[in-house]
Amino acid sequence: MDQGLGHITRKTMLYQTKVEYGDWAMNHVQGCTHGCLYPCYAFMMARRFGRVKTYEDWLRPSIVDNTIDLLKKELPKHKDEIKQVQLCFTTDPFMMGYPDVEQMSVEAIKLINSYGIPCVVLTKGVLPKSLTELPKINQYGITLVSLSEIFRKDMEPGAACIEDRLESLKALGEAGCKTWISMEPYPTPNICEQDLDIILERVSFVDRIVFGRVHYDKRANEYADAKAFYNESARKVIEFCASHGIDYHIKNGTAD
Ligand code: SF4
Repeated sequence: MDQGLGHITRKTMLYQTKVEYGDWAMNHVQGCTHGCLYPCYAFMMARRFGRVKTYEDWLRPSIVDNTIDLLKKELPKHKDEIKQVQLCFTTDPFMMGYPDVEQMSVEAIKLINSYGIPCVVLTKGVLPKSLTELPKINQYGITLVSLSEIFRKDMEPGAACIEDRLESLKALGEAGCKTWISMEPYPTPNICEQDLDIILERVSFVDRIVFGRVHYDKRANEYADAKAFYNESARKVIEFCASHGIDYHIKNGTAD
């Protein structure tokens, strides 16, 4: 059993999401050790609705013990409506330091896949090699908004280092799995000075890139050329993806 992992139960697990590129989703953990300081929207919501009181509470995750039982009840009921299930929008399925969370995530994906339903996975942790043994219908992704470890330590203090994330994603791609990058929230130069071309080259092996702007950091609004910056960055992403045969999605409100 993972040290310090809390345990909760829930009444439901699968839900239809309103996130623009989402369909159905599940969140089988409350809290997240990655502790992102963008800030994390999931943390802000959890605090607003009284599920956690402080940032420190958020860093102490609680696993939903009845996740698999709930999926076994809900999947037969909704299987014809579900195109794909996202893990996760309000936590991280492969958060660092919690093998029980990893094990449950893999078990949940396997169960969902047994209904012929693909999963879209997103992490700031390390994607385990065992995912290569699952049906090749899933899309595995990492969040990557910078190659800078200094920035990562500042903004995603508990998450995996960038190179470990990239390595695990590349290994899945080489094993024939579909891969993707969530490049969101991509920072303005006054938050992190960097070269988008270099980042795009590093992730040129993926099948899909989702690009989106910073929303909740006032520094992005203070950046005088934010509009021009995001228009130009989105153009670069689109051109890069088109020339490399990569699918892309530019999040609403990022560029004109
Ligand atoms: S990985 Fe996602 S859920 Fe976890 S703290 Fe960061 S933004 Fe929040």
